[in-house]
Amino acid sequence: MKKKIKVLISACLLGDNVKYSGGNNLTPELVTLLEKYNVKIIKICPECFAGLPIPRVPSEIRGDKVFSKDSRDITEEFLIGAEKTYKVAKNKEIDFAILKERSPSCGSSFIYDGSFSGKTIQGQGFTARRLNKENIVIFSEENLEEIEKYLEELNK
Ligand code: SF4
Repeated sequence: MKKKIKVLISACLLGDNVKYSGGNNLTPELVTLLEKYNVKIIKICPECFAGLPIPRVPSEIRGDKVFSKDSRDITEEFLIGAEKTYKVAKNKEIDFAILKERSPSCGSSFIYDGSFSGKTIQGQGFTARRLNKENIVIFSEENLEEIEKYLEELNK
């Protein structure tokens, strides 16, 4: 029997109420796609791994640091969350990751610009950077077509 494809996924995309507001980013089309390919899901939330509370003050990246909206430097927590997530990815031998776009942890192509004004720039969150360093393939929930193509490739 063929081995199941293992995918690391931002828990908020699957409906877990772990985002800073206490809500989630449920993406039903993504859930349908994962069900279609019967993948093994490994859920993570780097900011939860770092012990940050739910709800929490929102945070954004400025350069190599992360600041909460009330101006606290929480870079260390984000590094811890990234490292713990990488350890899970490694231990579970994931095939690839799907991470929430624009998050200061999970964003893989875009992040907010650090001004808390809703502007985005090209860049990666701390966890995406950590996984990227290990050459782990990362998609976001905004690239469902690419994810499906990749799943097809892995299934061959
Ligand atoms: Fe979702 Fe990632 Fe933010 Fe956790 S850290 S709430 S998984 S985007």
